[in-house]
Amino acid sequence: MPIDIYSKRLGINRCYVIKADGCIMIDTGPPKSGRAIEKWLKTIPINPQEIQLIILTHGHADHVGSAMSVKKITGARIALHEYDKDMFESGDIVWPSAVTTWGRVARVLFRPLTPLFRFPKGKVDVVLRNEGLSLVDYGIPGKVIHTPGHTPGSVSVLLETGDAFVGCMTHNSFPFRLSPDLPIFAEDLPGLRDSWRMLLEQGVETIYPGHGGSFSPDDILKALS
Ligand SMILES: [Zn+2]
Ligand SMILES: [Zn+2]
Repeated sequence: MPIDIYSKRLGINRCYVIKADGCIMIDTGPPKSGRAIEKWLKTIPINPQEIQLIILTHGHADHVGSAMSVKKITGARIALHEYDKDMFESGDIVWPSAVTTWGRVARVLFRPLTPLFRFPKGKVDVVLRNEGLSLVDYGIPGKVIHTPGHTPGSVSVLLETGDAFVGCMTHNSFPFRLSPDLPIFAEDLPGLRDSWRMLLEQGVETIYPGHGGSFSPDDILKALS
């Protein structure tokens, strides 16, 4: 079964649409990205209504901020892990903990931007649990895997092709990192490292981050060593 991957940059974020027998979307960018996503969907060979599921890699505002707009455009159901569900459903903006020096500086610098990240409260339709979720019922040869560390409820999508969509298990673009590495923000860095090892053992070929372009697992193996 051919699998097509489409990627869209939304400010500093990236979202993805994956099409095989079915169609899903991963992340939705920061608040107010709905119109940009709607325009983008017209440029790729996907009918917005084909998208059945929106998987949010975690509950931070720059990933979930436009989920309700995308739901309106596509009619898709929204999936998020139970541990991050409250962030989305309360509309609260949670600034993540810094784990690098630049992370600590960036946290102070970015904090005044909080109003830009305000988003309307959402509603999760599919609550993801620690055991993950097969995507076969959605026509996608792959699965959702619980990969905690950046947040307690972070998840990744791994396709049978080895393509892995990992949200903020890595940062690979300005203003975070200039090359693929571990994220500058994480609630549990040792846990994040464990999640990476567990994911890589499952045969990852290409990593698609929530910030920055795709890269090979070798780059992350270096960061883990
Ligand atoms: Zn995040
Ligand atoms: Zn992010």
